[in-house]
Amino acid sequence: MNGKIAEINEPAKVIDWLGKPYYSLNAYFKHVYGEKCYKIAVDAGLSCPNRDGKLDNRGCIFCSAGGSGDFAAMINGSQGRLSIKEQIELYLKRFNKKAGSKFVIYFQAYTNTYGDVFYLEKIFKAALEYSDVVGISIATRPDCLGEEVLKLLKALKEMYSEKFIWVELGLQTMHEKTAQYIRRHYRLDVYEKAVSSLSSIGIPYITHIIIGLPGESKEDMLATVRYVCNRENKPQGIKLQLLHILKNTDLEQEYQKGNVKLLTKDKYLDIVISMLEIIDSDIVIHRVTGDGPKKILVEPKWSANKKDVLNSLHKAMKERCAMQGTKCKGENYG
Ligand code: SF4
Repeated sequence: MNGKIAEINEPAKVIDWLGKPYYSLNAYFKHVYGEKCYKIAVDAGLSCPNRDGKLDNRGCIFCSAGGSGDFAAMINGSQGRLSIKEQIELYLKRFNKKAGSKFVIYFQAYTNTYGDVFYLEKIFKAALEYSDVVGISIATRPDCLGEEVLKLLKALKEMYSEKFIWVELGLQTMHEKTAQYIRRHYRLDVYEKAVSSLSSIGIPYITHIIIGLPGESKEDMLATVRYVCNRENKPQGIKLQLLHILKNTDLEQEYQKGNVKLLTKDKYLDIVISMLEIIDSDIVIHRVTGDGPKKILVEPKWSANKKDVLNSLHKAMKERCAMQGTKCKGENYG
């Protein structure tokens, strides 16, 4: 498989999960490219209809000032707006990556298809032009995938056929009541339309789900996972994100007022494991916990120790004899 883009949702039995009880992004990259690929998060200077007043000017209730792209914002730092090329160069210099390493450029901050299509073409091409870049991943909202954008993605896919172009959709939940509470500002049929449009042009998508949204039971969260997986055009991957309370967000105020009940680590582990068990084994797990900078994390504090969280997850899965896509069958589980 080395050097070729894997078919979307290949049968999992042919893939080495690298000893984990789920099909991680690292395992996917190892399977396709024979090595680890590093993600470089960039900030393209775009906005979001949920912040610029088109839909709202407050943003989603949990969204930080960095537009859910705080690592990208850190790269930009105090140096003013850097071009995509400058951000990539800065990352390579700062992290001293060895020549020949492979990279994925992650357009993370804000809504990365919300802008002039010529500008979008310019920034995506700037990333795809790098020989060591194997693909790009574009975080956006399902309501920001109009005809022009889809045309652009299709053209880029044809132009850079050796590389991948992924689109990441922030669904968070299938439940309308929660969607209103978090101020998502689009309905479920918008997500469904986006998924079928992307699939019709062969662009794989990754769905983001938040674990621990206020008012949701474990069964509600599992229902969202089932909804995402049980589709004709299922996602290439899923990102499971623990709800983080970040500084200076409206969610922080809600939390201070006592309106947000936090998950304990044990409860979170129980929910993630149950989710993984019902996610098809050919769907790549891009993330199983939060990934926000510690500087702005208010709660849950236990989530800041990512290594501990992952170790605890793997241990608990072993104890429960659990693995992605099925109850323990022993396959792929070292
Ligand atoms: S859609 Fe994304 S960038 Fe926009 S406010 Fe919500 S989380 Fe933030």
